[in-house]
Amino acid sequence: MSRRSGGWRIIALLAGLAAGALSGPGDTAEKALIRVEKGDLWILPAEVLARLHGIQELETSWVILASDEQLSELAARRVPAEILDISPEGKAYFLVFLRSPEAAGGLRGFGEVRILDEWTVLFWSGGREAREILPAEFKLKRLSPEDRFPVVRPGRERAVSAAEADVRLRRRAAELIPQFVSLVSKANLTKNIQDLQDFRTRYASTAACEYAGTFLFEHFSSLPGLETSYDPFLFAGTRTTRNIVAVLPGKSNADRSVILCAHYDSTSNQPTTNAPGADDNASGTAAVMEIARVLSSYAFDFSLKFICFSAEEWGLYGSKHYAQKAKAAGETIIGVVNMDMIGYEDVPSEDIDIIVNPASDWLGARYLSAAERYAPLPTLKIVNASFRGSDHSPFWDQGYHALCGIEDAGVPNPHYHKTTDTLSTLNMDFVTSVTRASLALGAELAQPVVSLSAPAGLTARSQVLTSLFSNAKTVFLDWRTTSDQAVGYNVYRSTNRERYEKANGTLLTATTFTDRFLRAGSAYYYAVTAVDSSGRESNFSAEVRDDAGNRK
Ligand SMILES: [Zn+2]
Repeated sequence: MSRRSGGWRIIALLAGLAAGALSGPGDTAEKALIRVEKGDLWILPAEVLARLHGIQELETSWVILASDEQLSELAARRVPAEILDISPEGKAYFLVFLRSPEAAGGLRGFGEVRILDEWTVLFWSGGREAREILPAEFKLKRLSPEDRFPVVRPGRERAVSAAEADVRLRRRAAELIPQFVSLVSKANLTKNIQDLQDFRTRYASTAACEYAGTFLFEHFSSLPGLETSYDPFLFAGTRTTRNIVAVLPGKSNADRSVILCAHYDSTSNQPTTNAPGADDNASGTAAVMEIARVLSSYAFDFSLKFICFSAEEWGLYGSKHYAQKAKAAGETIIGVVNMDMIGYEDVPSEDIDIIVNPASDWLGARYLSAAERYAPLPTLKIVNASFRGSDHSPFWDQGYHALCGIEDAGVPNPHYHKTTDTLSTLNMDFVTSVTRASLALGAELAQPVVSLSAPAGLTARSQVLTSLFSNAKTVFLDWRTTSDQAVGYNVYRSTNRERYEKANGTLLTATTFTDRFLRAGSAYYYAVTAVDSSGRESNFSAEVRDDAGNRK
């Protein structure tokens, strides 16, 4: 449903007035928080878009912190902008997610409210924390005016397709997945939820929440092969809490990772003393614990990270801290599978809603196919970039691909954020099925290592030779072996990253290959495999583009 007819569109002619009122010594250039429809933004030239200071993308619009000059420019170009606030300094802005569009009425009287779209409002009350002001029923995301996300028209950068990911999982690796799935135990999941509920509350800022964090740390630390650490952070001013991060390092390329995550903190109408949070979100946390237990006994090409986030209920603080850090460190994340509320069945048989943004659509498609193959679980994929109320959202902000698995996007659970959200209200068969599907997808993306590990360190360099009669590209590849069982190698080439074809004729015995007579104007992608003396082939190496090693 569109709100475009609602009459909110105000051409930003107020800009000059606002600027006059706000300018002061040391004032930053940005003076107004505005909302602009994407359809209107895309008429702007790329260099104007590139200068915009986006702080939140939604399904049909962007929230932007604009300077006086930018407001004038938008007005001059006839781009309608809704002014949300003209004095952002010192404000603590929150997105509030509504369970129904009418619920916005319940926010009045607590602070300033601006409707952003049908399900999403912007809320602030000076610099105060929304969690401490608003009733527990409201779901929050803290926005930071210092965030700068690129306001770019989508679709230029092609997402990794489902087909590409499929072609990467070799048959022998795929055969292992049913075995992993069969090891997921409903009894373990039940015990995990009970153990988490027994902390009485896991409301971030309480000691009990920190005890729950220690309990999770101990669980992951007891599993072989995992490197477990605390990831402490500040939230809501000077409060502290910790994410728990457990890593199973990849055997062929540890720098690429797949994340399986859930928030372990909880809230309720009596948050500091009684917030069992069985569905929200001991259920997702229990799944991460159980998936880690099963998969930590096996080896994968890429790293698997099992993360339990804290302070989600205060406004997604833990996941934001983690995703920002990952981006700043240049981490390559293949995909993020976030589970939040995977245990309450309002109507049998419950389906799992898989929520993605357009760039993560392939990941959602992969979840659906994993669920169909490995778990008896109905699914529903929803593409909605406004669905921001859980820990996948900060990963979207940083340009990573992520999905959120939730029992129902509309949250019909009557115990939601109440003291009655307990284990006895959950359907553990449903929790078990969701855990199995999530495990299967995580394992597929990380690629189980079979008898032979994939080659590593693949590099490519390309050269175009132009003569009177031809214009051809030559690509030089080299890699290194990671196994003494390897007797040869195959090189796979793709132009569309969807279909790979073998580039070599006979098995290669050297760890180099020269691919000739290619089209000068095309980009080529390569991956290599190792083959043992019985002809068994490894998984694919990490993929490279033909010019990745060229001197820029
Ligand atoms: Zn939650």
